[in-house]
Parts: sequence; C-alpha cells; structure tokens
Amino acid sequence: MENLDIAKFGGTSVGNFDAMTSSYKVVVGNKNSRIVVISACSGVTNLLVELANGTTDEKIDEIIEKLRDIHEQIIIHLENQHELRNYIEGHLKEIKEQAKVAQKSTNDQLTDSIVSHGELMSSFLFVALFKHYGTDAQWFDVRTVMRTDSKFSCAKPVCDEIKVLAHDKLLPLINDKTIIITQGFIGSNTMGETTTLGRGGSDYTAALLGEALDVATISIWTDVAGVYTTDPRVVKAAKPIAELSYVEAAEMANFGAKVLHPSTMIPAVRKNIPIFVGSSKEPEKGGTWVRPEPQSQPHFRALALRKNQTLIVLSSPVMVGATGFLANVFSVFAKYNHSIDLVSTSEISIAITLDAGTTTSGKHEISEAMLNELRQFCHVKVETGLPLIAIIGNKMSENAGVITKAFDAINKFSVRMICYGASRHNLCFLLKDGDTTEALNALHQALLED
Ligand code: ASP
Ligand code: MG
Repeated sequence: MENLDIAKFGGTSVGNFDAMTSSYKVVVGNKNSRIVVISACSGVTNLLVELANGTTDEKIDEIIEKLRDIHEQIIIHLENQHELRNYIEGHLKEIKEQAKVAQKSTNDQLTDSIVSHGELMSSFLFVALFKHYGTDAQWFDVRTVMRTDSKFSCAKPVCDEIKVLAHDKLLPLINDKTIIITQGFIGSNTMGETTTLGRGGSDYTAALLGEALDVATISIWTDVAGVYTTDPRVVKAAKPIAELSYVEAAEMANFGAKVLHPSTMIPAVRKNIPIFVGSSKEPEKGGTWVRPEPQSQPHFRALALRKNQTLIVLSSPVMVGATGFLANVFSVFAKYNHSIDLVSTSEISIAITLDAGTTTSGKHEISEAMLNELRQFCHVKVETGLPLIAIIGNKMSENAGVITKAFDAINKFSVRMICYGASRHNLCFLLKDGDTTEALNALHQALLED
C-alpha cells in the first residue's frame, strides 16, 4: 500500500477509556494508518515487573486486583463485556501462577513472559474499542512476526526474518477497511518463547515493522506534543522542536530524552522513513518530524539529561608508550556486554562511562567479575550516580567560539568529565553531583532561549 503509516501509541495513550478514545480518533483521522502498535496500559508493565521480581502473597493479590481494575475501567464502556472480562481473567490467572513461580526463583525468561501480558491485554481491549465505535479492527499477535534472539529482557530483533514473516503473515491482512492492532515491546525466539525488546521497546517494534514493510511514515503518539528542547518538567522554558535530523534525535534518545526509545531510529534510518512524534490527546498541537535532512540545522538544538551514570577510571602504570592497553580494556567490556558511552584518555589512564541499565528487569549492574578481570592489568576506580548532560546540535566542533557559550553557562558547576569532538552533534558534561535542575536550566537559557 502506498503512503502506509504505522502508528504507535504509548501506555498513557491507551491507559484508560478516554485516552484510548483519543487514540482511536487519531487512527481513523489518518486514512494511511492501517497498522497500530500499542503499549500496555500505563502503569501495567511496572506492576508486572514487580510480580516478576518475586513478591509476597498479599502483594501478588493486591497487584492482580490493580491490574483487574485498570482493565475493568475500560471494559465497562464496551460491548460484549462478558467475553472481554473472560479474556482478561484468563491472563490474570496465568499472571498469578507465574508470579507464584517468581516468588521462589525468577529469571529473565519468566519476567518476559509475565510482562508480555500487559501488551496482550491492552491490544485486545483496543480492538474491542474500535468495534465499539463502528470501525473494523483485527487483533494480531506480533510474536508471529517479531522474531528475536533469546536474550530475554533485552532481546535483539532478527531483521531478515522479521521482514520475511511480516510479508508472509502481516502484509496480506492490510486493506483499507480493517485496522490491524498489535503489541509493541514483545517478540519471540525461534522456539516460540516470548521475549521483550527492553523497557520502552514499543517504539522500536513500530520502527522494526515499519522497516520490514517499508512504510512511508512511522507515527509515535505519546502524551507530549513532540520532542522538546529538554524535559519541560525540569526546565519550564523548554519548547517543542518542529523538526530534527535522525542523528540529532538518535543522540537525544541515546542521552536520555524519553520521547523515543534509543533503538527506534535505527530501522527508520536504514529505510529513510520519517518519524512523527505527537500527542494523542492533543493531535491538533502538531509535533516533531524526525527526518533524514531537516531544513534548519542550528548549533544547539536540545539538551538531554541522563542520571545515574557509572564512571570507571582505569589506570595502568605501563601505559606510557605501551600499545594494546585500550584494546585490552575494550575487549573486556565487550566480553561482559557492557556498552560504553563516553571515553576520555590521558597518558596513563582511561575514563569510561556506562549507563546503569535499560533491561526489562531493570537489573544491569556492572559485574564484579568484569571488574576483577580489569584489575588483573590495571588499577580500577568506580564512581556511581553521576548525572550526564548532553548538548545536542550541529557542527558544534567546526566553528570558532560556538562552545564558549556552553562553557560559560556550566562554569559554576563541578564537571567531572567532558566529551567533545567525536561527533559534530554533541558535547557532553558528566557532572560530579549537585543540582542538575539548575545546571540544565542554566544551559537551556544560554543556548536555547533567545
Ligand atoms: N510496556 C513497555 C514498558 O512500559 C513497553 C513500552 O511501553 O514501550 O516498558
Ligand atoms: Mg511506555
């Protein structure tokens, strides 16, 4: 289909009957939206993660009751309530059984299986809501096409297979009468076991399906009218950005801007698919277009804040004139699957930052085994809980005087590490601690307000 759009709605956009209704209107308002990817109702994944981590009998019952209520509040507005309630009860029963298993011992595979119920339930009710408003919709189990590896809790998609499966099983269902409604975040391995793409992974699902079907646009509908210059809850003067390049958006997502999942851009970039980000409650407010080449390319576009970074400083007495030290260090990080963010070096030491973690179970600590392996050939010092502010823009390292403004604004804060020069698109400050709100406001005022 020409101009096909794939629309993704986040948890708050499907969190209750009114939110679902707004999202419904967005879908039917665009004749090109034929496939809809949704998250679990807001709050549901967190509750399921709590169960998956193992909790008491009383807590299990309390959480099941909350889950029942969230879905029941939607069901009461719909037809065929008996059938819908049975469906939800079926899931709740299974969730409870799995939560009991998790009480004894838990693992990432069980966690994925437990959290997957969230998207399965929300998508089922969303189909019923479409029917309630007289629009034909079909429920589709995304796991039949979203093939991943078996790294439960942060599974990697197998794009070639997703493409074949999507053409085989999903494409034939697309027509101009029925809306296909499916789940974000979840997938399955070749054995048919349920996996997840990591927290917030529904955007990624939409982009992966968009790539597989070579759609014209991907729309990410959330609770904010686009991507802001920085978090508006922290900086009052933050304003929406009309357009962004892929590179800028990827830098923003990577450095903690919550609007797009960091991996979302990758499939879109491979196929040059523009991504729209807007608010499902206020679609009339417009939003942000993320495109290969936007018209404006200002030096400073946005600020992103990522808290809780870990800094590892490795020093070797023999680094002077020695070769291979960095290679050894990096290979150890690779072996333990730790993705390195910032790097800075001196004659005898290297400083590296890592993010505390984005897996579904939320547990992604720096392994002691890895630190021990590093200790065999260098001195290791770990600092935790550091905030990182990334300034995102264009050609920052090319023109004289551009970054002076940033240094002036950050002047009164203690900066632990600076990264500049690897990309023309960012300048990063790792702060010691202290007031990140103040630092973010100071930078925003200096760089992004007239
Ligand atoms: N429901 C999942 C989460 O809360 C995935 C998503 O919302 O994108 O992380
Ligand atoms: Mg979400």
